[in-house]
Amino acid sequence: MAKLFIIGCGGVGSVAISKCCQNSAVFTDICIASRTKSKCDALKAKLEGKTSTRITTAQIDAMDVPALTVLIREYAPDAVLNVALPYQNIAIMDACLAAGANYIDTATFEPEDINDPAWRPIYEKRCKDLGFSAYFDYSWQWAYQEKFKEAGLTAVLGCGFDPGVTNVFSAYALKHYFDEINNIDILDCNGGDHGYPFATNFNPEINLREVSSPCSYWENGHWVEIPAMSVKSEYDFEQVGKKDIYLMHHNEIESLAINIPGIERIRFYMTFGNSYLTHMKCLENVGMLSTIPIDYQGQKIVPIQLLKELLPDPASLGPRTFGKTNIGCIFTGKKEGEEKALKIYNICDHQESYREVGSQAISYTTGVPAMIFSMLVADGRWKKPGVYNAEQFDPDPFMEALGEWGLPWVIDESPAMVV
Ligand code: NDP
Repeated sequence: MAKLFIIGCGGVGSVAISKCCQNSAVFTDICIASRTKSKCDALKAKLEGKTSTRITTAQIDAMDVPALTVLIREYAPDAVLNVALPYQNIAIMDACLAAGANYIDTATFEPEDINDPAWRPIYEKRCKDLGFSAYFDYSWQWAYQEKFKEAGLTAVLGCGFDPGVTNVFSAYALKHYFDEINNIDILDCNGGDHGYPFATNFNPEINLREVSSPCSYWENGHWVEIPAMSVKSEYDFEQVGKKDIYLMHHNEIESLAINIPGIERIRFYMTFGNSYLTHMKCLENVGMLSTIPIDYQGQKIVPIQLLKELLPDPASLGPRTFGKTNIGCIFTGKKEGEEKALKIYNICDHQESYREVGSQAISYTTGVPAMIFSMLVADGRWKKPGVYNAEQFDPDPFMEALGEWGLPWVIDESPAMVV
């Protein structure tokens, strides 16, 4: 029996909330708090009558730490699930510390305005120290390790599918199939088609900042950085077919490089169609992906934020997206002295997700794990004071729950490799 305080009610949040309401035996009470309260109230109205979970709603700007602290303290939840945007992670962690709540999020912190004089020097120093230049990295949040430990609170970072499930797949492979993992290739395939020439399947601003940033991967103890979308390959995905895949920087590489002993290389690949890449390049060339504000008729406008307003809301893609996602990890390493390979993956159908919770599979594959991670933290199975990533916990209860709550996984002991 747990109380969960959920911040954010967008594409991912709506799925996590719907799944909590299916899991009333654990989540007896949830509070949905977000910037636009009417969205929380609309979802509450849709779910009430179909669940025994008690739902309350609240308006909050999560950047207002004192106000958020009061709300969390009054509600006294077993955990706070942050499914707002990565910009709010630090503020929400501060509020959790002040209010005495455990914390879960789905994406790595990044400062909203990287050109802000308060952030820029930290960002530039960090690029030099770490060896990669994506806007996001875990260092800001890992710095809270001692504070959470001292407070006796658990924080689990990056709790969606990738990062999230891919971290747990890695821990599970290590626990049950390998003595040592040397290589991990994470493959994220969205074989879905929404019929638009260009749309992103989660928050457009965060998605485009991620995809257009330089690519980096981990090899022999350091980062190798190369231009965005400069390495392309092809992979034949089960139930989807052959797709172009592109090497990208991604959140989970950072923690897996530290937490998987014996690791030599970690790469992350994502599928993109020609239409997406051509639109993105064109938008980048004309300056629409810029995060630097411009003056327009006396108003400050951030180009990428304007673009977000023009693009379809990812939460509206559910009814028109057909096809499947196939996301997983290929591992190579050693077991009892023998070289071996293994793939663990999940296939999710966009229309089945839509029929169940009214969302496309990208929100579904993120929101379902977010609910499961929250359950494990809230019911105490993943209680470990400090700040951690998902591979630092026992993977077994998570893997058991993943199939049960809608994302069954497959083990392939002779997988095709990325060429
Ligand atoms: P949306 O834009 O659809 O939703 C974001 C929600 O956060 C909205 O309800 C928004 O409110 C709310 N919000 C934004 N700013 C604030 C604020 N200052 N205070 C309170 N609420 C705020 O995003 P998605 O649902 O697509 O993505 C949510 C998160 O999931 C992102 O961090 C994204 O990076 C992550 N993600 C993780 C994945 C994974 O596998 N790990 C995959 C996909 C996404 P409003 O309605 O007013 O805009």
